[in-house]
Amino acid sequence: MATRKVRILFVNCPTLDVDACTYIILAQNAVQNLFEFEVCHHWASIDLDKYKNDRSLAEFWSRQMIFGHRLWGANRADRIHAASLDRKAYPFLNNETGYGDLHELRQLVLTHERKLSRNTEDYGGKQGALPTIVITETPVSGVYIARTVDNLAVVTVSIWQKYLAPPSVLEFLLLNVERLAVRVAIKPDMPTHYPTRACIGDFTPCVVDFKATILVGHLCSECTGLLSTVLNEHELNDLRHLVSHKWLGKLDDLGSVASNLKRVYEYDLSRTRGLRPSLVERATDILWSSEVLRLICSLLGLLLLWAAAKHPLLWILGKIHIHY
Ligand SMILES: [Zn+2]
Repeated sequence: MATRKVRILFVNCPTLDVDACTYIILAQNAVQNLFEFEVCHHWASIDLDKYKNDRSLAEFWSRQMIFGHRLWGANRADRIHAASLDRKAYPFLNNETGYGDLHELRQLVLTHERKLSRNTEDYGGKQGALPTIVITETPVSGVYIARTVDNLAVVTVSIWQKYLAPPSVLEFLLLNVERLAVRVAIKPDMPTHYPTRACIGDFTPCVVDFKATILVGHLCSECTGLLSTVLNEHELNDLRHLVSHKWLGKLDDLGSVASNLKRVYEYDLSRTRGLRPSLVERATDILWSSEVLRLICSLLGLLLLWAAAKHPLLWILGKIHIHY
């Protein structure tokens, strides 16, 4: 059976480490053939000319250029700017909208596809478009994690609290993308079940229970039965492998997804607690890196030698201590 294409669209994400998130989502393409994920950013389709005379936005952006790039780095400042453009183009993103039947969000997705696609026949020109999962920081009312209508889904990270980590918010998003991909691209009428079984079909009324679902990544017998009507055994095994997250690999295994996240994006799956690595987490990483540790040990050694030369008593005490 053909690989199902699933589009991921980032909308209004001023804080989330979108770059690291993009990598971990696309890394799935190399480990299975059930889905082919592709990533888009909503801001790329916004007509910037429309907002060039917007004084408040222009002033905001100039402040970002001056202070934001220095304070947070270019990526963070750019994300804040991009998210402000998203909200400007679609004011419903400012509020806990409830999304309802995802009507407004569908219009946003279709307009985005229409503007980006050269072939309107294949994309925004017809109803339905590509199966799409929107990742956003705008809350979904009712403290829900996600909503799905037909081939469109939205998952929010607004619900994420640092006490929930580990597992990290990236693993939280990854499992949500996987379970929503099943709904938007394979079986739109796939139900959820109220009891938590650490299965991708869990309803998870308690978000803390979702930690177990992320860690186990299971496909229960009930969900397996429902999916076996549309997937063959090989495809089911692909799905099981995908949701197990074993393919993330180990941090000390060079070339693994976990290792690349740390090396390239400074995102440590076992330690990063928020939507992006904090300054303290980055500083601690630098402090405990082997080079810095070697430097600190060398300086301490030199300090001891200097103290021993300056104060012979310390030298004698040291000798006594060694003899003892
Ligand atoms: Zn299940």
